Amino acid sequence: TIVVTGATGRLGRHVVAGLRAKLPAGQVVAAVRSPEKAADLGVEVREADYDRPETLDAAFAGASKVLLISGTEVGRRVPQHQAVVDAAAKAGVTHLVYTSAPHADDTSLVLAPEHKATEEIIRASGVPFTFLRNNWYTENYVQPAQQAIATGVLTGSAGRGRVASATRADFAAGAVAVLTGEGHEGEAYELAGDVAWTFDDLAAEISAIAGREIPYRNLTADEHRAALIEAGVPAETAGFVVALDRNIAEGTLAGATGELRALIGRPTTPLGEGLAAALTEA
Ligand code: NDP
Repeated sequence: TIVVTGATGRLGRHVVAGLRAKLPAGQVVAAVRSPEKAADLGVEVREADYDRPETLDAAFAGASKVLLISGTEVGRRVPQHQAVVDAAAKAGVTHLVYTSAPHADDTSLVLAPEHKATEEIIRASGVPFTFLRNNWYTENYVQPAQQAIATGVLTGSAGRGRVASATRADFAAGAVAVLTGEGHEGEAYELAGDVAWTFDDLAAEISAIAGREIPYRNLTADEHRAALIEAGVPAETAGFVVALDRNIAEGTLAGATGELRALIGRPTTPLGEGLAAALTEA
């Protein structure tokens, strides 16, 4: 049995659908915090809340493989993930797959420390593992694209930095390939889109979608933070966005490694195509 945590999330839904296309539905279990959101997944649903370790033992009973989709509560994820790893080890899981961050063990990326700590917990557990160090989702740029279309300009502070993004569906296909394939134990895959694009490239794609010229205007970190706050973004979130743009300028997301393409056996979704689809759905 393959158990997928976070299965009600956007990545998790793609993974469950991908597994169902390859395996009998009875071999897939959705382990979720909110069972009421999972009725449409078409597989067995078990409650699994990272904050309530008592739910995790039952959720992983009989599991051979577990996909741990990293949680959303930044700052609380290390104890949450520790509880998941402990339960997976106790259940005798033979393959634990974890969604991590690019070069989690050696990067300035502000989001990396919790992923690095989780990778260390998993290594120490002795459970055979695979780390899916996922680059950015193309869908992260839906809101900036909407804002750019509304205002006529894309703003940011990433300079000439590049992002090797891919769609959630692409990353989910990578997870499905690892969960249903062989020989992935012990690997840390640097998964990314085939193309590392700049914010000028992003502006060009948004322009093509909008049918008019929308340039990229690069701001200083202070200007960027002020512009976000002016647009109604909470100060803490604004600081976070600016820190991530600095990380992008530093090159932390620039690695178009080709490892995702190799895993899924097809090119990743081009930026313009992925963005257009996500904007249509939004
Ligand atoms: P979503 O926000 O769509 O889904 C997150 C999932 O995690 C939900 O199913 C949520 O459950 C579940 N979850 C959160 N906290 C807990 C908890 N305490 N116990 C059990 N389940 C929990 O995120 P995505 O699917 O888009 O992304 C998956 C993960 O990837 C994120 O959680 C985050 O760690 C990371 N991420 C990566 C990005 C990237 O660009 N590479 C961007 C953003 C996030 P519920 O439905 O009950 O809320």
